[in-house]
Amino acid sequence: MVEKKDIIIIGGGINGMAIAGQAARLGLKVVLIEQNDLASGTSSKSTQLIHGGLRYLQQYYFSLVKKALHERSLLIKMAPHLIKPMHFIIPYYKESHLRRFIIRLGLFIYDHLSAHNVLTKAKGIRLNIASYQSFFKENIKQGAVYSDAWTHDSRLVMEWALLAQQNQATILTYQDIIELIETENGWKIEVQDKFKQQRNTYEAKILVNATGPWVAHFQKQYLAEYPQAKMRLVKGSHLVLKRELPDDKAYLFECVDGRVIFLTPYEPGYCLLGTTEVEYQGSLEDTNVEPAEIGYLLAAANVYLQTPLTVQDIAYTFSGVRPLLDDGMHNAHQLSRDYQLQLQQSEKGNSILTVLGGKLTTHRRLALDALILLQKIRPSWPTVKDEMISLPGGEPLDEEQFKQDYSFIPSAVLSRYLRCYGTLCLFWLRGKNSLADMGIDFGAGLYQAEVDYLLTQEWVKSIDDLLWRRTRLGLCMDEINLEQLKEYICHR
Ligand SMILES: Cc1cc2nc3c(=O)[nH]c(=O)nc-3n(C[C@H](O)[C@H](O)[C@H](O)COP(=O)(O)OP(=O)(O)OC[C@H]3O[C@@H](n4cnc5c(N)ncnc54)[C@H](O)[C@@H]3O)c2cc1C
Repeated sequence: MVEKKDIIIIGGGINGMAIAGQAARLGLKVVLIEQNDLASGTSSKSTQLIHGGLRYLQQYYFSLVKKALHERSLLIKMAPHLIKPMHFIIPYYKESHLRRFIIRLGLFIYDHLSAHNVLTKAKGIRLNIASYQSFFKENIKQGAVYSDAWTHDSRLVMEWALLAQQNQATILTYQDIIELIETENGWKIEVQDKFKQQRNTYEAKILVNATGPWVAHFQKQYLAEYPQAKMRLVKGSHLVLKRELPDDKAYLFECVDGRVIFLTPYEPGYCLLGTTEVEYQGSLEDTNVEPAEIGYLLAAANVYLQTPLTVQDIAYTFSGVRPLLDDGMHNAHQLSRDYQLQLQQSEKGNSILTVLGGKLTTHRRLALDALILLQKIRPSWPTVKDEMISLPGGEPLDEEQFKQDYSFIPSAVLSRYLRCYGTLCLFWLRGKNSLADMGIDFGAGLYQAEVDYLLTQEWVKSIDDLLWRRTRLGLCMDEINLEQLKEYICHR
C-alpha cells in the first residue's frame, strides 16, 4: 500500500529533523527516512557549541554571525535544559598589544551583533590568579572572557524528532531505500527496515535531501539527471580527555597556523578538545581520527597548559565531516559555514529541496527558510510563522522540588537526567518511589526505567544508539554491565 504524504525527508540529522518538526507543526504530513540511527552523521560529532562563531568575523562573515547569534538567543529559550550559556576564556599568549586589541575589538563586535543578547558581555580577565595558576603556563597572565552557549548535539536532534512525532510525523530509522522513482503523482519511495525486513512505500510531491555530507552522493545515486551540488567535505576530529577543568568555563586557544581550537567541559570528569579541519575524500561510513590530528590538537593546547595533555589522557575520539559550500576560492577553515537551499522543479511537477551546508546553531532558521521556500510552490499550505516554541523537554521545572521528589536516586544521576532530558525524564520517573522501582541497575547510573523509555520512545535499536547518542554513558560503562545491557536490548 502506498501512503500519501506532503513531504518525504531523507536524513535524520539536525537539519532534516528540524524541517520535519516545523513541517509537522504546520499540520503537513511528513515522513522522515534515516539510513542509520538519528544523529548518527555529523550531528553527533560537533564541538557542541551554539554560537555565532567568533572566528568567522576574521573572514568578514558578519551576516552569518549575526544570524547565528540571533538563533543562539532563541534556542536558549526553546530548550533551556539542553542549551546552556557558557563562558569562554581566550588566554593571551602573545605579548602583542595589537593582537590583544584585535581580540577585544572582535569581542565587542560579537557582543553587539546580537540584538537580543541576554548573555554577559565580554571583558578582560587576569589569569595569574589562584584558580588558574596550576592550569595555565606561567607566561599566561591575562586574557578575555566572552559568552556563548553549548549543547548536547545528538539530544537536540532527539528533541526535534519527538516534537515531529508529537505532531504526527512518521520517523523511520535504519532504513534501506529499495527504490526511489518519480511518477506523475510525485516521488515514490520504497524503504525496508534493516532489522525487521518490513517494507513501506510513501508518495509525496516534495522530496527533501537533508543528507548532510552524503548530499552529493545521494544526488548521484537517485537524482543524477538534476544539477549536482558543488560541495567540499572537511573532516573535524575531537578528543574526549579524562581531565577536570579548573571550573565550568571553556577555553578558546589560538593556534600557530591561525586557526582556533576549543577545550570545553563535557561529561562530568571529562573535557572535549577540538577540532581539526582536514579536506576529506574518504568513506563517510568510516571516519577515523588520524594520529597526526591527535598530535596537532595536543600540541596546540599544550602551548597554554602547565600540565601537558598526553595520549594517556584520551578516553575516546570522534570525527565528523562538514558539508561545506565550495566557493572555489577559500581553504577549508575559511569556507563559509552558512547554508543554501536549492529548490528544483521537475517536468512532472514534483520538487526537490536540497539542503547544503549549515551549522547546528542555525538549524531552526534553516528549517523555517526551507518551509517558506516550499510554501511558494505550495500556496495552499498553512503560512509559516517564526514563532517561539518549546522543545519537548524544555517545560518549566522546579529543580529543587524534583531532587527532593526523587531523592532515592543518586544525585549525579538526577543531574544527568536534568541535563540530558529536562522534563522528558518524568516519563519514566512518575510513580517511582524507590530504586527497586527503577528496575535493573546496569551500572554507570543507568536503570532499566530509562532504558525502557529509550527503547520505546526514542528509536533506540542498538547499544551504540543508547550509549553514545541518547546518553554518553559509553564513556564509563564497564564490560560486564555492557554485556548485560546488550543482552537486555537484544531480548526486548
Ligand atoms: C567537527 C565538527 C564540529 C562542528 N561543530 C559545530 C558547533 O560547535 N556548532 C555548530 O553550530 N555546528 C557545528 N558543526 C556543524 C554541524 O555539526 C553540522 O552543520 C550539522 O550537524 C549538519 O547536520 P545535517 O543534518 O545537515 O547532517 P547530518 O547530521 O550528517 O545528517 C545527515 C543524515 O542523513 C543520513 N543519510 C545519508 N544518506 C542517506 C540515505 N541514502 N538514506 C537515508 N538517510 C541518509 C545520514 O545517515 C545522516 O544521519 C560541526 C561540524 C563538524 C564536522
